[in-house]
Amino acid sequence: MTQVTRFAPSPTGPLHLGHAYSALIAFQRAGAGQFLLRIEDIDRARCRPEWEAQIFDDLHWLGLRWPTPVMRQSDRMAAYRAALARLASQGLIYPCRCTRADIRAVLSAPQEGATHGPDGPIYPGTCRARPMAEARPEDALRLNLRAALRRTGALNFTENGPLHQGAHRIDSDRMIAQVGDVVLARRDMGTSYHLAVVVDDAGQGVTEVTRGVDLFEATQIHVLLQALLELPRLSYWHHDLIRDDQGKRLAKRDDARAIARYRAEGASPEDIRAMVGL
Ligand code: GLU
Repeated sequence: MTQVTRFAPSPTGPLHLGHAYSALIAFQRAGAGQFLLRIEDIDRARCRPEWEAQIFDDLHWLGLRWPTPVMRQSDRMAAYRAALARLASQGLIYPCRCTRADIRAVLSAPQEGATHGPDGPIYPGTCRARPMAEARPEDALRLNLRAALRRTGALNFTENGPLHQGAHRIDSDRMIAQVGDVVLARRDMGTSYHLAVVVDDAGQGVTEVTRGVDLFEATQIHVLLQALLELPRLSYWHHDLIRDDQGKRLAKRDDARAIARYRAEGASPEDIRAMVGL
């Protein structure tokens, strides 16, 4: 099978060394196959066209090439709606009206163990019995995780990257305790990162997902959604994160390590590769 990889940045700030590393690994992993780009711009309030233009420019400068037109998540709302309709027809999603403060209040009650999952506090299930017929446009939509896992049965995925290499079995009890009912459509957004990434990886024919190890824990959510939506299963390559001199991972606001800044200072693409250890 031809390998298809992708780099999926959000245009919410300048690309920094960590993004360059991620994009270069995806390009390398594609080998003789195909490297794709996807613009993850569902968060309209934070995305800017000028950041998107800078992404294309920086990646070109680094020597990466990809087919056009590039997939843009803001064009994909119909696909996300169809996936949500399918999950709704299986009785697996429900409308949630809880605010962050509501969730915090329930979790701070003495009998609740307030643990955090990949998306923050584990949802205590307040709205779980609410039927979709009562959904209002301003509600978030959550996955009933226990019901979803019961439907799919045992799940696993293959990690090819060096950090967690091997076959991983998804442990339902652990997932229920440590992930909880994830949001699949956020208020005013029509989707969430998890749903969009799964629908779009399938839509682009991706075969291996390369991304930072900070998203390793989210992978079980994606594998579960692929099974529920009967989408092709993917393999994964989670890479280590590029850190600053204090050992902190780079953030979008970390302009000091923006590719554009190094370019302006006269760095070459080879210098960037060397800086990230490639
Ligand atoms: N858009 C995400 C980010 O910029 C990447 C998501 C992914 O690769 O699955 O962090």
